[in-house]
Amino acid sequence: MALKVKVDRILCIGAASCVAVAPNTFEMDSEAKAVSKKKDGSMTSEYVNYSDINDNEENILNAAKSCPVNAIVIVEVDDQGNEVKQIWPET
Ligand code: SF4
Repeated sequence: MALKVKVDRILCIGAASCVAVAPNTFEMDSEAKAVSKKKDGSMTSEYVNYSDINDNEENILNAAKSCPVNAIVIVEVDDQGNEVKQIWPET
């Protein structure tokens, strides 16, 4: 079981609470939208595996819960990287 996370740029309103809760995972870009930060320093709006992020699972989930518009999506994936179920927002 593995997890991955992304920020939905269309939903994000730039509230930045995710950055306050998990600064190793999220950063604001030049358009005031949150992006995910990878261990190699790159930033992306695509899904990032937790293994590529310098933060723990709890922090990332708490950051997602802190988002007022539920713009942070966390999914569980199988060994092939296929989505198994959505962890957050709860469906
Ligand atoms: S908390 Fe949500 S709305 Fe605020 S910057 Fe993060 S993703 Fe965007």
